[in-house]
This record gives sequence, structure tokens and C-alpha cells, in this order.
Amino acid sequence: MINAFTGVFLAALAAALATRLWLAARQVRHVQAHRGAVPAAFAETIPLSAHQTAADYTVAKSRLGMADVIADAVILLALTLGGALQWLIDLWAGTLEPQSLWHGVVVIVTVLLVRGALQIPLNVWRIFGIEQRFGFNRMTAWLFVSDLVKQALVGAALGVPLLLAVLWLMREAGELWWLYAWLVVAGYSVFLQMLYPSVILPLFNKFSPLEDPVLVERVRKLLERCGFRAKGLYVMDGSKRSAHGNAFFTGFGAAKRIVLFDTLVARLAPDEIEAVLAHELGHYRLHHVAKGMVLSWTMSLAMLAALGFLAGQPWFYEGLGVRTESQGVAVLLFLLVLPEFTFFLQPLMSLFSRKHEFEADRYAVEHAAAAELIGALVKLYKDNASTLTPDPVHSAFYDSHPPAAIRIARLRTQPAAA
Ligand SMILES: [Zn+2]
Repeated sequence: MINAFTGVFLAALAAALATRLWLAARQVRHVQAHRGAVPAAFAETIPLSAHQTAADYTVAKSRLGMADVIADAVILLALTLGGALQWLIDLWAGTLEPQSLWHGVVVIVTVLLVRGALQIPLNVWRIFGIEQRFGFNRMTAWLFVSDLVKQALVGAALGVPLLLAVLWLMREAGELWWLYAWLVVAGYSVFLQMLYPSVILPLFNKFSPLEDPVLVERVRKLLERCGFRAKGLYVMDGSKRSAHGNAFFTGFGAAKRIVLFDTLVARLAPDEIEAVLAHELGHYRLHHVAKGMVLSWTMSLAMLAALGFLAGQPWFYEGLGVRTESQGVAVLLFLLVLPEFTFFLQPLMSLFSRKHEFEADRYAVEHAAAAELIGALVKLYKDNASTLTPDPVHSAFYDSHPPAAIRIARLRTQPAAA
């Protein structure tokens, strides 16, 4: 049952797989080659031992990443051309009518659960092997299991209704179903964003109002200077899972919240936190969040239009090793193979993101001190064992943030805060 589309799929899979492995191998080689010396720009701020820890951590993660992409490719091949998906479709056809909406939902949920379960061993290795060895893991086995269960339940509660709506539109709404489905998907994404800070995040973490009066006052002044309103300033217990630190904004409109990881509050001085927040504010004030949403809506429209076309083509199913044509199967096949085709858009997305990071840095130094942002970044690179010497090609392809040396060199040349 193979056809020309089988060839196209295999070529895309092979190209994406080979590129992923090649990039990871380059990264390992480059980081190892620069393990011996701290780059000149960081010679005074980062000790050699920390630089070498970062190199070893990056290499360990890259190697795990290689195992990960190979495992994913094997699972994808087994599901499609290997016949596992057809077997599952037939299995569920014993209890549910194969053209029914629920058959589609159940097959999709089963495949996602099975694939998720197969990914558990590598995740265990990542958290309890690598993160543990480098001193970042704070997760217990119990928390790992309860996270998995909660994620599956939340995913089902939020995903199944959307899936049912899309499958129903595919069946009932005629030729232009994908356009209506897009309106539903876009509306739903706004709804989720509103739900996220107040309903979903608290299921996984505790939030408490920021109490340090010095820091609260600094942040209040910063927000005033930037003409920004937020609903609240919270500290999140990120240390429950990991020693990595972060800060972010969540929600939008009047419900925006600022969230600082407790690990960040513990490590950075108030001046440095102010500079990091000024950077995050920059993302909002320069409309990066809104642009990101418009981009994701545009992409989802293109994808739904593509699905609208493919769902009606027998060669799409046949080429991927499936005999049963149904709405649910079309959605599932599409979700499974799409990443192999969109992989080559990754450098563009990374470029877009890095451009925004430079812009937010520029905004930050207009409203806070560049030296404090540099100080905060150096501490974060060191604490997170981020490599200072990434492979340039790997970095151009994947990195959402500019490499440390380039980012800091640019911050040093920016005019000081008014
Ligand atoms: Zn940023």
C-alpha cells in the first residue's frame, strides 16, 4: 500500500532526522572543542570550573536529544507504515462505529497516550539522570508521577471538547469547514490564555504575592515608568521541580500577572530583577506577544486549510499505511507527520524570536541599567549551566535567544538609561 506520498513522507522524515542529528553532533563537537578556556568576554565573571560544567551539561543534553529524535522517528514509522495505527483503528472499531466522532476521538487519545508512555523512559533519564547529576533536579518520583497524571487529565479536559468540535465541523460544515474550525481554534486559544494564569498554572504550582518591600517598590516604579498595568506580582515555587530560574508575564489585557520564580528572587539582586523585568515588559510594550499570536493564528489557518485538502485525498491515508478513511484518522495522521514538514521553518522562527530578544534588551536598557541586565544574564548563564560557546549553525537553527557573547556585547554598546 505504498504510493508516491509514502516517498515524500519518507524523504521529509529522513531529511529532518539527518539534520537534527547533524546539528546535535556539531553542537557536541563545538562545545567540547571550547571546553578548555572561558571566552575572553566572560573571563572575569565565570570561573573555568563553571564553564566546564556548562560544557558537560550541554553535551549530555545534546546526546539525550539525539536518542530522543531517533526514538520519535521509530515510533512514527511504527505507527504509520508499520501498521500500528491501522491495528488500533480496527481494535476500536470492535466497540465503536469507525465513522463516528467518538471513534476518532478515542483513536487519537489512545495514540497520544501510547506515544506519551513510550517517551517516559527518556524523560526519566533527563530529569533523574542528567538534571540530577548536574544538581538541577528538585523533583521527587511522586511529583513526576502526579505531574504526568495531572497533565494527561488537563490535556483531555481541554483537548477533547476542541477535538470533538473540529471533527463535527469536518463532517457537517461542508467545503469550508476548515475556515469555521479555524475560528473555533483561534477563539479557543484566547479562552485558554485567559484561563491559564488563574486556573491551569495553579494546578501545578503555588503562587504567593511578592513580599519583599524593597523589590515591590522597585517594580512598582518600573511599571510606572513604562506605563504598564498588571493585576499582580507573584512568586512561583519553581524550586519544587528545578533549580533553573525564570521570570514571565502571563495572561493579557487587564488580567496580566507578573510571575517571578522563587529561584530567581533568591539569586538575583533587586536591581538585576528590575532589569530582567524591564526586558520582559519590553516584549509586551513592543507587541511581541500580540505578533506571536497573529503568527500562530496565521499558521493554524494554513495548517487547517492543508488538512481540509488532505482529508479528502485517498493517497494521503494509503501513503501513510492506513486503509480507514475518517475525519479522526485524517486529523491524527496530519498531527503525526506535520512536524517532519514544518521542521525546516524552525530557523525562521528562531530568527524571529532572536530579533525580538534584541529589541526587548534595547527596551530594557532604556528603562533600567544595562550593567544590571548584563549582571543578571551572567548569573543566569552560570546558574543554568548554559553554554557560552554554542555551535553557530546549531544556534542559528534552534536558539530562541541570541548567544551569550553576542547578546552581552550588544548590551555593552547600548546607551545608558536616562
Ligand atoms: Zn526575552
